[in-house]
Amino acid sequence: MRAIVVHGGFGDLNEERIEGVRTSVETGFSILIQGGSALDACEKAINVLEDAPVFNAGTGSALTLDGQCAMDAAIMKGSTLNIGAVADVRNVKNPISLARKVMDETDHVLLVGKGAEEFARIMGFPKYDPVTEDQRQKWRHLREKLAQSGQIKHWKKLSRLLRSHPELLQGTVGCVALDGSNEIVAGTSTGGVFLKLFGRVGDTPIPGAGTYATKYGGASALGIGEGIMKTLLTKTVVDLIRNGISAQKAAEAGIDLLDNTVKLAAGVIAIDRKGNIGFAHNYENMLVAFRNENMNDLIISGDEGYSK
Ligand code: ASP
Repeated sequence: MRAIVVHGGFGDLNEERIEGVRTSVETGFSILIQGGSALDACEKAINVLEDAPVFNAGTGSALTLDGQCAMDAAIMKGSTLNIGAVADVRNVKNPISLARKVMDETDHVLLVGKGAEEFARIMGFPKYDPVTEDQRQKWRHLREKLAQSGQIKHWKKLSRLLRSHPELLQGTVGCVALDGSNEIVAGTSTGGVFLKLFGRVGDTPIPGAGTYATKYGGASALGIGEGIMKTLLTKTVVDLIRNGISAQKAAEAGIDLLDNTVKLAAGVIAIDRKGNIGFAHNYENMLVAFRNENMNDLIISGDEGYSK
């Protein structure tokens, strides 16, 4: 059974974003159907979302407190537990492809900051500025708002800040794919939380936090990375799948765990080795799209219901 699920983060369920997840799933699914690997399907599906400026990954990523674009990404293969990840990386167009190079071309798991960028140049990734004018304007606006309320000094209290400014959380993008050889691959790519502190790394590139896959299942998370790291959300979900829980129930149990412990906003998507798909979230408007071989078309879900 070949299957793919993607998430496009939290936020507006507008046409552009809906079209973005549609194209992403169609791209990944057609790779799978033509006999391609889950690794290619996952990477290419995420590239589509990274290249669309309406998602918080690659071009159009959220900006840090000092107005920089500092992105995180990871990709993981379930059969081998091989994972490649990058964190705090700038001036790269497609961080998920760079993460794949870390996995394929090095013995390391995670490259950070300047080192990751130097590696990108060695691997032939040209210098690229992912900052968009829209995000620059939003950054100016949010900085002003926060400065007026004196909250800039209290960044430590991220959850309090997010309660008064929910627009800071846009959600990341991610994908889980299962191919005809039963390989499961999970990937996630993000600009992180808007106005994050320089140097802050979220859950996305941390194995078992934002991204995880084994031969039993795979998962990708979004939301406030600090909560996802503390609960190891994707590892939790994949372990539950291994214990025979359905992908849907496992995703719900993962989000319950966050609700009962750290109480921070999050969402998660998952696939089991039979191609069953699950997703759950505790924050509004999570955009998800998925398809498996038993379906004639993909399904797109936001809080306003399903659409085909
Ligand atoms: N999980 C990402 C992070 O904390 C951000 C997000 O999903 O919006 O970096």
